[in-house]
Amino acid sequence: MYTRQTTRRIVLGGVAIGGGAPVVVQSMTNTDTRDVPATLAQIRELVAAGCEIVRCAVVDDAAAAALKQICASSPVPVVADIHFDSSLALKAIEAGVGGIRINPGTLRGGKRALERLVAAAKERGVVIRVGANSGSLPRDILERFGGPSASALVEAALMQVRMLEELGFYEIKVSLKASSVSGTIAAYRAFATRSDYPLHLGLTEAGPLVPGLVKSAVAMGVLLMEGLGDTIRISLTADPLLEVDAAWALLRACGVRQRGVEIISCPTCGRAEVDIISMVQELWPQLRAVEKPMKVAVMGCVVNGPGEAREADIGIAGGRGQGVLFKKGKVVAKLAEQRLVAELLRAVEEHINTEQTTG
Ligand code: SF4
Repeated sequence: MYTRQTTRRIVLGGVAIGGGAPVVVQSMTNTDTRDVPATLAQIRELVAAGCEIVRCAVVDDAAAAALKQICASSPVPVVADIHFDSSLALKAIEAGVGGIRINPGTLRGGKRALERLVAAAKERGVVIRVGANSGSLPRDILERFGGPSASALVEAALMQVRMLEELGFYEIKVSLKASSVSGTIAAYRAFATRSDYPLHLGLTEAGPLVPGLVKSAVAMGVLLMEGLGDTIRISLTADPLLEVDAAWALLRACGVRQRGVEIISCPTCGRAEVDIISMVQELWPQLRAVEKPMKVAVMGCVVNGPGEAREADIGIAGGRGQGVLFKKGKVVAKLAEQRLVAELLRAVEEHINTEQTTG
């Protein structure tokens, strides 16, 4: 089992990051931040799926103004994502965000603007995320390191950290985003030997769903298994809900955190007598919000299903025109095929209530 690397602890809007705190799951809204109802609706969906910190893009004054209402109603802390414009960052801090994501080296207004921003962040207890991105490294660093190498990313991130430290600011988390898996792993590993600020794990431009998931899982999986990473966001060119699903699946797979339902479903084969893929697609949106850790199996046949899913708390296995409900690999009921999904959901609810009663 891995040992978590000790980083210093910071607190973002009441959520502890680093210093041995559980790895925090983040995502980012893709609504127009100026559309408060749509943004809040998406935040609530993300939170129900397990998102613990949410980031919103702040593109102009209207978006910064909208943050006030968003922060007041969001069930989790909000981070404002800001490029170049320090006045937007100040407005976001006034609106009540828990954190801001900026690049102190590219803020308009230079050192004076950064000083004002840091003073406001200190006063309001706001965390600042800095980070290097392989696509936007400063020219001098690119020349010095001969390209966007892991060392170049580390140097760029440390430079941003130093700019804040010189102003007496230490509530910092850091990301190092390369677009390649090996570059990302190397950059985070190298940074962790030079600094104890909490690490925000991410992979930039991860890509469409399947390749994006694979790249993120390999890069972040390696780092998490080595004990690195205090908060994660899996960036996908897809619905942000899937980012949250993926982050939890990765944390579970790495043995870092447990939450909610893990669906164990068979790959299906020529023996399958029900449409497993449709069943799983129907079940997942209804199980996503469950917080209690549990395993739910969805298997294609009664011959091998229950046995193959012995570790599951509850499951169903399809048969011709009917199927079985099983618990811990033992069949407890025979059901008509069309009742399988509903009965499984009922059994999950019962399981949650039993856990609550006995736990
Ligand atoms: Fe095939 Fe049955 Fe195994 Fe599913 S559970 S893969 S249908 S043998």
